[in-house]
Amino acid sequence: MRDTWASRESWVYECLNCLTTWAEEFQVTHTADGHGGEVVAYSHEGYPCTTPWADHVCPNCRCQNVTTFPATRRRRQAEAHPQGADDLELVFRLRRLHAW
Ligand SMILES: [Zn+2]
Repeated sequence: MRDTWASRESWVYECLNCLTTWAEEFQVTHTADGHGGEVVAYSHEGYPCTTPWADHVCPNCRCQNVTTFPATRRRRQAEAHPQGADDLELVFRLRRLHAW
């Protein structure tokens, strides 16, 4: 007997060429593989598709240089840190390496 359950995931895309952002929602079907793992299949608008993070084209400029991340995840970790803290961290790292 195979266990199957479904969930939904929202993914956000950003074109690195023209900076267009958009979101798409996927239906995710999880099926137990009988060995303690699970097989995950994605579909979009009712049609099976590849993984949400592969093969995306910007709807605006058709560029394939697109970055993606789940909508639930923090957008950019670096934005949480002020620039000065990063510089300080770099100084400490360089000192540890005796580069200074
Ligand atoms: Zn674009």
